[in-house]
Amino acid sequence: MSEPTKIQPRLVYSPEYDIRWLGLEKLHPFDSCKYSRTWKVLVDRFGDRLQSATITPTAPATAELLQTIHTPEYLQQLTHSRYIAQALELASLAWVPSDILDRHVLQPMRLATMGTVIAAKTALETGIGINLSGGYHHASRDRGSGFCVYSDIAISIASLRQSGQLTATDSIAIIDLDAHQGNGLARIFEFDRTVHILDMYNQDIYPQDRQAIDRIDLNLPLASGTRDDEYLNKLQQYLPSFLSQLDRPKIAFYNAGTDIYEDDPLGRLKISAEGVLARDRLVFQTLVAARIPVVMVLSGGYTSESYQLVARSVGEVLDTWGL
Ligand SMILES: [Zn+2]
Repeated sequence: MSEPTKIQPRLVYSPEYDIRWLGLEKLHPFDSCKYSRTWKVLVDRFGDRLQSATITPTAPATAELLQTIHTPEYLQQLTHSRYIAQALELASLAWVPSDILDRHVLQPMRLATMGTVIAAKTALETGIGINLSGGYHHASRDRGSGFCVYSDIAISIASLRQSGQLTATDSIAIIDLDAHQGNGLARIFEFDRTVHILDMYNQDIYPQDRQAIDRIDLNLPLASGTRDDEYLNKLQQYLPSFLSQLDRPKIAFYNAGTDIYEDDPLGRLKISAEGVLARDRLVFQTLVAARIPVVMVLSGGYTSESYQLVARSVGEVLDTWGL
């Protein structure tokens, strides 16, 4: 596929991304309504122009699509409440009937997975596809953990290969800047060397998965408390050279977790709001300059301010490259 000649950012979003049910949104430190909150900030700012640049997934990822990555045994386990509760780290959910959990919790995640698939296809045509959800980087082929059930990025790669938009040998980049190491993705692509992973994360927190760390192509561990200067200098130093060493990637997946933010209770880094914006600017400018289509997904970010950080970064992308 030829690369896009003009950059036209496209968003992918559905109001059904939010997980609102029986106060679940209050049980978990994860702001499970950050998707609609982000959307609202952007709509208030860009109005109708945003609607016309947005694609809404109408159906969740099908079983057939999920099976391109996940094992049948694992998908079968997801019909048991106890297993779902464990993957979501919410023990009390083990007592809720599994069909209710499926409808209210897993289905929004399958819809967001479809959103990443659509954003990836769109990015190949317009240069930038942003799914206002997704980024479930802890999910592996046969295991869900850390609030991640379906590996939306891996499923998107499988889908692009199936449709012929990527060949089996096309080079793919994953830039994972969530505060946590993306162990699920590293495990899924353990033996797939067309996928190149840059992962910068806090090494002092979950998941501390040694086997997954060994698979990372460019491993950039950080210590708790890392601040803007060190963080941004490291990214500036390594991202361009990481990309230039690859055989011109056909697409880059950017896992843009905002849990690097200084007030995030889980990420334990000390990156300011300005630092988060500068990080996202650096990633987009570097990828666009290298003419690599980019798919952004939101991944972690657990504070009540996370949606504002995301909206600021996405808003700047829309301002820079237009709607
Ligand atoms: Zn995270």
